[in-house]
Amino acid sequence: MLYLVREKLFIGNINAAAEVLLGGNEEITHILSVLSSASIGFFSEWKSSFSVPTKEIRTVYVGDSDSDENLDGDGSNKTELCSKKIHYVVENAGHDLKLVRMAVPLRDMESENLLDSLEVCLDFIDESRKKGSVLVHCFAGVSRSAAIITAYLMRTERMSLEDALESLRRSNESVCPNDGFLEQLSMFEDMGFKVDHSSTIYKRFRLKVLGDSYNRGEKIDNCKFAADPGLPKKEASIGTGAGSQKEELIPTVAFRCKKCRRVVALQENVVSHTPGEGESSFEWHRRSSRNTFNKYDEFECTSIFVEPLRWMKTVEEGGLEGKLWCVHCEGRLGYFNWSGIQCSCGSWITPAFQLHKSRVDVSTV
Ligand SMILES: [Zn+2]
Ligand SMILES: [Zn+2]
Repeated sequence: MLYLVREKLFIGNINAAAEVLLGGNEEITHILSVLSSASIGFFSEWKSSFSVPTKEIRTVYVGDSDSDENLDGDGSNKTELCSKKIHYVVENAGHDLKLVRMAVPLRDMESENLLDSLEVCLDFIDESRKKGSVLVHCFAGVSRSAAIITAYLMRTERMSLEDALESLRRSNESVCPNDGFLEQLSMFEDMGFKVDHSSTIYKRFRLKVLGDSYNRGEKIDNCKFAADPGLPKKEASIGTGAGSQKEELIPTVAFRCKKCRRVVALQENVVSHTPGEGESSFEWHRRSSRNTFNKYDEFECTSIFVEPLRWMKTVEEGGLEGKLWCVHCEGRLGYFNWSGIQCSCGSWITPAFQLHKSRVDVSTV
């Protein structure tokens, strides 16, 4: 079954997509397939058994860490470990019709990272609607495709999550994105209908994804960590601005090892938290045991928390917790713990990569 959501925009399940691919549909020119990698593979094989020829036209990588670095880096194996491969293919459907199809691997699980695939999907829907009509489908047409179309309505019509979902339900009442997707869509709304990599919301989300993957026992590959801001390559590109978009006139706040002055983090690596947030009973306990004149101090965090960075070798070793050493002078900078650390202000940060303020200096680069 195909359901019309907006002009030139349909939602459906895998059968709807199969029908369009085999029988053709005068109206539909583009398909966005959102399936598990296994289903994408099966779906392609199944089609080739009906000798529906396909031609790959483009492949893009999305998600996890800086894609530039991965792409010009150390080969495709690394790239695939760190990011998701999205294929664009042209297929011949029935009646000599041609279809452009984009296949995005995504499982219908609450822990699945939808945000990192979202922008590329929304852009594809946009482009497709300029050229023809697009069908967005997953397996059942209930969760994944619905989440993506909901985000699309939110972005294009500036609607709240609630309104967009409500509006989509008027087209197909059975749509129901899973709770994890709903949570991410609500972040999407809070980020201003975009996936803003510089926002605290996104950084916390990325940390959570990494923490979940650690808890599932997956190997933590350092390509999922943020680039080491202390490496000359990065410093050179900041200094000269060579090849970059604009002149680097805005000074960046950097945290340096107090002992050797090596840059260990930039402001953009900091995952901020609201001092004293959460754990109210603990807070009360602290307050009662302290002089009230020191109230301000209670909220003065003695640490900064950052995203995992590529110099953090002890994190790569795979332990639950450990010390963080300066990669240059081996001085102690802080501590990490995948199950969380409580900041001096009372807030719990989970997972936590902590740098003690007493061990770093703040400067600009
Ligand atoms: Zn704090
Ligand atoms: Zn040092």
